[in-house]
Amino acid sequence: MSTTSFTKKSLGIETVEPALTPTPTDKATTLPKKPKLGSGKSKKRDIPEGLWTKCPKCSTMLFDKDLDQNHKVCMKCGHHFPITARERINSLVETCSFEEMDATMTSVDVLSFTGVASYISKLEAYQKSTGLKDAVITGIGKIGEHRAAIGVMDFTFLGGSMGSVVGEKLTRMIERGTEKNLPVIIISTSGGARMYEGMFSLMQMAKTCGALAYHAKAKLPYISVLTHPTTAGVMASYASVGDLILAEPAAMIGFAGPRVIKDTTQAELPPGFQTAEFLLDHGLIDAIVPRTQMKVQLIAYLDFMMEGRKKAAMAD
Ligand SMILES: [Zn+2]
Repeated sequence: MSTTSFTKKSLGIETVEPALTPTPTDKATTLPKKPKLGSGKSKKRDIPEGLWTKCPKCSTMLFDKDLDQNHKVCMKCGHHFPITARERINSLVETCSFEEMDATMTSVDVLSFTGVASYISKLEAYQKSTGLKDAVITGIGKIGEHRAAIGVMDFTFLGGSMGSVVGEKLTRMIERGTEKNLPVIIISTSGGARMYEGMFSLMQMAKTCGALAYHAKAKLPYISVLTHPTTAGVMASYASVGDLILAEPAAMIGFAGPRVIKDTTQAELPPGFQTAEFLLDHGLIDAIVPRTQMKVQLIAYLDFMMEGRKKAAMAD
């Protein structure tokens, strides 16, 4: 699972040096043969790779299997590790119930963006490293006994940035939800709009919110779940217009970064600014739900919100 990368670092396994072998040179042929250094079997550490992860908050060494079973939440202090979109979907929907939509949709380089690397080469690199086509997975799945239109963002794909594909996939998913009388759930994590797509990425803010307005007009509920971090253009559009807005503990949530706000307002920012807890205290979100409780809580909320439409939602 994806815990491997930071596990290696935390254990220092990557620093294990390869067996020493002298580099062959032309001189070596003229000199008497030296015994090869390190040609014998070197002693390797007995720690298998990717088994343990150190919690960055409480420094406890956590067994990866237990961590995965606990939805990547530290068993000791409750720290929420990053989780991929696929892992999150697996943790929420009933087995084999998720039908993905628009799985192959990819961006085009409409601005011919140039920089250190071209936009297309960046996209290809992220597609390779994440196994995703873009920063969101959308589809219809069952949570408890509720079918729901679900969108889950993935921060590992270009910082969960919102480009045309993210906007279009979410819009289609919301429209499908409206058409089929389903509640919509979007789990956000994003650094904001995707600069490589300029204005096209900003247009997604209006487009997704427009689709959500039609969904609301049909008197269907939309639950927005904010996870660490949810910022900028995403927070300024669909993530903040939920009928119910939930957040994971300690998630960073905001529009502009704290430094920009501090410079603009010329005021000291209060402690805990832009955390889920701060937003809850100030009435901007409705509840903080730990990841381990998310599925149970979503079912409870859907039970309440879909009471009158349960039959319609289950029929299709
Ligand atoms: Zn911990």
